[in-house]
Amino acid sequence: MEKLYINKNGLDQWFKQMIKGGSHVYAPVQGRDKVDFKRVTELSEVASDFVQTTQSIKKAVFPKAESLFSYQKSGKNVEVQDFDALSVSDKVLWKIRPCDAAGFASLTGIFNWDYKDKPYNTRLEKTTLVSFSCSKSDSYCFCTSVNGGPGSTVGSDIQITMLPDEGALVEVLTSKGKALVELSADSFEQLSKEIDKELYLAKVPVHFALEQVKEKLSVAFDSPVWQQQSERCLGCGACAFVCPTCACFDIQEDAKGSAGRRIRCWDSCGFSLFTLHTSGHNPRPTQSTRWRQRILHKFSYMPERIQKMGCTGCGRCSRACPVDMNILEHLTSIAE
Ligand code: SF4
Ligand code: SF4
Repeated sequence: MEKLYINKNGLDQWFKQMIKGGSHVYAPVQGRDKVDFKRVTELSEVASDFVQTTQSIKKAVFPKAESLFSYQKSGKNVEVQDFDALSVSDKVLWKIRPCDAAGFASLTGIFNWDYKDKPYNTRLEKTTLVSFSCSKSDSYCFCTSVNGGPGSTVGSDIQITMLPDEGALVEVLTSKGKALVELSADSFEQLSKEIDKELYLAKVPVHFALEQVKEKLSVAFDSPVWQQQSERCLGCGACAFVCPTCACFDIQEDAKGSAGRRIRCWDSCGFSLFTLHTSGHNPRPTQSTRWRQRILHKFSYMPERIQKMGCTGCGRCSRACPVDMNILEHLTSIAE
């Protein structure tokens, strides 16, 4: 890992070079009442004072709806047009949070578990993740309880920590990060002295012991806790759609006459139709069984199968929930 310093003007110059180099840059932008990722062309468009965006930026590599392939039938012949890797543009995801970068590491585990997903992997290969460490947090954040932290570099290609002089410490973590820095090498300086980035990070308390949650979950399948916790859940799916690690999807056919395409679109294990069989049987017939699946998938099944957590403690699901279901409160009560 290389550590560099960049001043305010250098940051501006580097950003301009990214745009000039043809990268599509996505960054948090302040809207009327929320901050969300948008494509930007100027550094001045990027939001400065926020804890977290409402939506995660997973759609950059796992779009809400996408065509996996298309086909045209002619008599007995079928011509298949595969996913077009050449149509994927270079992207920079600027000012994501460390919990967002960690979310990409979880998604990569899911999309490479039993099958290497070409659309996902192609998009990720062409995407450079520039995280900014967090200088503030709120009561929904719990990254430090799930092995993360406001300055964690897991999943990032570059991490930037803003300094009081409006310059920044730049940690270059991967070859993709190095290539992005080399676009504007003159903008960077070697560090004149070691910078202790901890001084500039938000203080996020550890709310629960993760090992304790995992231990309790291993014997909780038939516990009444799922019924108690899910009583007010509406099954609206908002928590899954804003989450940086949720990857449930549905496959649909969009066909007309002899041509069509196979579409993949976001879904949620919180929806009552998600596991409904054609026979009418539903193995998860109630909201409590669906809530249990959500928690067990993130905290038991994913760590067992792909050695990744399904939650980065970003708190988005709790901020977005229309009935105030708070995952941090629920995990804390499970641990206790
Ligand atoms: S956002 Fe809240 S109400 Fe909607 S499915 Fe998630 S937990 Fe249930
Ligand atoms: S489950 Fe909630 S807190 Fe955890 S990563 Fe998803 S949105 Fe963030």
